[in-house]
Amino acid sequence: MSLLLSTRATQIGDSPTLKINATARALKAAGKPVIHLGGGEPTIPAPQSAVDAIVQKANSRKIKYTPSSGTPELKQAVLNYTKTHYNYTFDKSHVLISAGAKQALFNFLLAAVEPGDEVVFPAPFWVSYPEMVKLAGGTPVVVKPAQGLRVTADEIFKAVTPKTKAIILNSPCNPAGHIFSADFIQQIVQFAEEKQIFLVMDDIYHQLVFDGAKTPNPCAFAKDFNNLVLINGVSKLYGLTGLRIGWAVCENKELIAAMGKMQAQSTSCNSDLSECAAAAALNGPQDCVQELCTILEDNRNTLLAELAQIPHIHVEKPQATFYSFVDFSYYSQDSNALAAYLLEKALVAVVPGRAFGAEGYLRISFCADKASIIEGVRRIARAVADLPRKN
Ligand code: PMP
Ligand code: GLU
Repeated sequence: MSLLLSTRATQIGDSPTLKINATARALKAAGKPVIHLGGGEPTIPAPQSAVDAIVQKANSRKIKYTPSSGTPELKQAVLNYTKTHYNYTFDKSHVLISAGAKQALFNFLLAAVEPGDEVVFPAPFWVSYPEMVKLAGGTPVVVKPAQGLRVTADEIFKAVTPKTKAIILNSPCNPAGHIFSADFIQQIVQFAEEKQIFLVMDDIYHQLVFDGAKTPNPCAFAKDFNNLVLINGVSKLYGLTGLRIGWAVCENKELIAAMGKMQAQSTSCNSDLSECAAAAALNGPQDCVQELCTILEDNRNTLLAELAQIPHIHVEKPQATFYSFVDFSYYSQDSNALAAYLLEKALVAVVPGRAFGAEGYLRISFCADKASIIEGVRRIARAVADLPRKN
């Protein structure tokens, strides 16, 4: 007998974003005054509706397995949400509730990807896409924009081959904070339909938008809804990251059923408490979403004002999310080394751009409180000023 780990386990990287959370937490626990600008969760308190639902459910003393694909109540809440925000009516057989958008994406990849299949997505990308595609046996195909941080539709088209099974789009984008244009979304929706490949819209930030912007709705451009997979969840919208509730919606019932099998054979079902709380948050007052956007927009403005004091960096104004993706290549081409230096020297946690497929950048989050953003960026400014001068 051998105790060697699987090739799969040894070839898959850690989640760099979760790792930075763990590092920041450990440093804080050790009494270090670390400022965490690497995080990916709003600090707002949970909506009262969600808290009340958890308390009520707990008091019922019935905390049991739920239906594997999600409770009818939560599915209905997701359907109502989808009707409101995508103006399209799906039914319950089109919905799978999962342990976060992350598991929804993973279920999709396990259900759709054959060994050798390619999955295309733009850089900069969310850190988990390449590793999840590899875990599912597929090949990640990263499309790097020739200019700036935004790919064009043509660049995506050129990356698609007969082996392409799916395109994943994340709009608004983690880490760059941009929203892809309606024209771009329309072109990709139509192209994916024509080529009969899946288009997975990771819409987890679609309501966290600023300056009156709106995220274009892919359903407005679709004709054949069988290949369009909408992913969303409560983590970012309500700051309910700890519930672990997300979902996939697609008119392709075979796909949703296959994704459901992946889940039934791995996690069985979602937490009963969490499903109740997520349904309550979706059905409850929604003012908290606008309030969160107002806080985040203000944080973004504070962050940009502070970043403007650091010479030789470049940042595009984030239109959405709570991330800025800042070009620090003047100071270092090695973003891992720069992030490690900032953590050690300035006690500020940020995520290196390399993890998102863009070397020379750092992802600086603005979901922390304003005072931390100000102090964090000032510390970064002092630390980079101490780096050896370039000629
Ligand atoms: N997609 C993107 C782009 C994300 O940033 C995240 C953040 N965790 C997720 C999916 C997963 O979200 P969750 O599993 O918490 O719903
Ligand atoms: N999505 C967040 C981030 O990018 C949370 C961490 C994660 O799930 O990877 O930081």
